[in-house]
Amino acid sequence: MTVTLGEVVAALEARYDPALAEDWDAVGLVCGDPDEPVARVLFAVDPVAAVVDEVVGTGAQLLVTHHPLFLTAVHGVPADDPKGRLVHRLVRHGAGLFVAHTNADRAPGTGVNDALADALGLQGTAPLQPVPTDARAGLGRIGRLAEPVPLAGFVELVAAALPGTVGGVRAAGDPSRRVETVAVCGGSGGSLLPAAAAAGADVLLTSDLRHHPVSESQEVPGPALCDVAHFASEWPWLPVAADALARDLSGRVEVAVSRRRTDPWTAHAATRERPGSPPPAGRLSG
Ligand SMILES: [Zn+2]
Repeated sequence: MTVTLGEVVAALEARYDPALAEDWDAVGLVCGDPDEPVARVLFAVDPVAAVVDEVVGTGAQLLVTHHPLFLTAVHGVPADDPKGRLVHRLVRHGAGLFVAHTNADRAPGTGVNDALADALGLQGTAPLQPVPTDARAGLGRIGRLAEPVPLAGFVELVAAALPGTVGGVRAAGDPSRRVETVAVCGGSGGSLLPAAAAAGADVLLTSDLRHHPVSESQEVPGPALCDVAHFASEWPWLPVAADALARDLSGRVEVAVSRRRTDPWTAHAATRERPGSPPPAGRLSG
């Protein structure tokens, strides 16, 4: 039985309530005709050209991304603009674009942060910053590992659980410190450090962490920090959301997860100890 784009959008919005999105966010249907049929849906983190190539190549009628294509107002979508070009290509190939961003971050059960917590095997998870109206929804998650591990072991566990990126995984804190209670926030979650500290987390895992806040955080008691690629922290949501949509529509749409790594970083070299300069992990292990 044919499913329309409108029905797919309704199913997605039942999981990822637009009311949970930040005021500044831009979520929902970007392009597409709600009356058109949808047989295939592709899920990706970023609405970039490589992912649109995959939409065209796989014949999907809908691309669902976590990140918005447009976050600020535009006057038009001419095809000589990089983003306008993507809209033209999608429309020309009969595909819509739907965005679930901060509403997917906050959503209970099958949102970005539950998916990240589940990928790490956290148990007894709850939102780090619940929304006032629903204690199950909110930003970040906090939970416990089945077995405590040293911070260095936690970094290995994270590297094994998340998709590979050239930047890998790094942490700030004593590598031997015990980690059991773990706070996570997919995407740029450094602002949740006070909430993670107040909740008694041993570590906060997030991305896009900057030197000064990290350095200052390690001068006072509180969680260690674990920094992963932004893309890697949000990727675990894709198969979770794809499976949920297939279930919600009783298998009447085919779902797939993008095989493109849209993490923009493409090269990495580990630095080595050099005579006359401090050892790479000097402050913490030296
Ligand atoms: Zn993000």
